[in-house]
Amino acid sequence: MQRVTAEVAVVGGGPAGLTAAIALALAGAETALVAKGATAADYRTTFLLASSVTALDTLGVWARGHEHAAPLRVMRMIDDTARLLRAPEVAFAASEIGLEAFGHNIENRFLLAALKAHAGELAALTAIEDEADGLEIADGQVTVNCKGGATVGARLVVAADGRQSRCRSAAGIDLKGRAYRQTALTLNLGHGRPHRDIATEFHTEAGPFTLVPLPGRRSSLVFVVGSDDAPRLAALADADMAAEIERRSHSIIGRIEVEPGRGVFPLTVETATRFAARRVALIGEAAHVIPPIGAQGLNLGLRDAATIVELAVAARRDGLDVGADGLTGRYDAMRRADVTSRTLAVDLLNRSLLSDFLPLAAARGLSLFLLDRLGPLRRAALREGVMPLASQPRLMRGEMI
Ligand SMILES: Cc1cc2nc3c(=O)[nH]c(=O)nc-3n(C[C@H](O)[C@H](O)[C@H](O)COP(=O)(O)OP(=O)(O)OC[C@H]3O[C@@H](n4cnc5c(N)ncnc54)[C@H](O)[C@@H]3O)c2cc1C
Repeated sequence: MQRVTAEVAVVGGGPAGLTAAIALALAGAETALVAKGATAADYRTTFLLASSVTALDTLGVWARGHEHAAPLRVMRMIDDTARLLRAPEVAFAASEIGLEAFGHNIENRFLLAALKAHAGELAALTAIEDEADGLEIADGQVTVNCKGGATVGARLVVAADGRQSRCRSAAGIDLKGRAYRQTALTLNLGHGRPHRDIATEFHTEAGPFTLVPLPGRRSSLVFVVGSDDAPRLAALADADMAAEIERRSHSIIGRIEVEPGRGVFPLTVETATRFAARRVALIGEAAHVIPPIGAQGLNLGLRDAATIVELAVAARRDGLDVGADGLTGRYDAMRRADVTSRTLAVDLLNRSLLSDFLPLAAARGLSLFLLDRLGPLRRAALREGVMPLASQPRLMRGEMI
């Protein structure tokens, strides 16, 4: 039976786990990655903020995937509700804050392929293609027991095993959350007119309808609808779906051709009550799930990964225990404000769209109006969106850990 000993074990081979494992191994830490193979095809795309792209570039991953990514240079928001108080249309350009692009949109399959290829070349990284069945947490060490019988002993477990995280349960960490009565439909599409690197978010009474550029005359769509309406829309024949999208997008990118591969994601918000305990640090969706509005989820997950790696590598260089309570406690404190503020912002925007309550609609309209008109506020908000001041791990600043 395979027995591996490492300084850090990462459980979960999604984008957050792979990023953490790569960063650890590049910093010289003996790392074991327990990752089971993908079960279903993922046709989604991820919009990566410029700071996340910088982190992946610093790790050498971006060079392997960048040709599949499209830059987003302008963000447009259009109030498409039929309400009495409608927000003004606003557009923000990355050039206003001195950036070439707010970030890049990439299909998940290309992002994962780039991460896996890079991970496969690192001498300090041992990959175990299996599922973690449980953890045994003892003084000074955690053992990851895998389904196939392999065991991994490590001082710290980075749990990146997604929203149903077994590692989270094993560490005794609870989850708080709730479901929205909304569902995100996702698909990719071709279109007759160029997107000109512009993402457009239509705010509707059911939630945002967001088109984000992909390379060429292609875009990805995240289409938030009421959960009652989702099964009917998701089952539309391609031609009817294309007509529906063209109607809802007011033909701004011309004739639509939908591609195979639709996704249906009921919206939930879930946050772990602690981000670390008993030698287990949660990252990515094992720590927090937020609705796909404003493209925050994986960007937060990558900041989690960069933060725990930075702390572990610093401890290791000082000859300290990388899984000590002090370190995991600091990780929890360092991630709390970033995760809480993004979760609240997404929730507030979503509620302001759904609500018929006039003051809330007015507040959204006023916020967008002020953002549109007040230069310094506008630039501060844009900078905060791309590069949150409170959470800038070194990787996000382009510094190797
Ligand atoms: C419709 C939609 C659109 C989105 N768009 C964006 C966007 O534009 N930008 C953005 O930043 N975020 C976006 N997100 C969020 C983003 O997709 C997630 O944050 C991200 O996929 C989470 O990555 P992860 O690595 O934490 O988890 P996952 O991708 O879920 O990976 C977890 C991995 O762990 C593995 N695993 C589970 N259990 C075990 C076990 N016991 N042992 C071993 N392995 C295990 C799983 O097989 C999986 O490979 C979107 C989400 C949705 C639903």
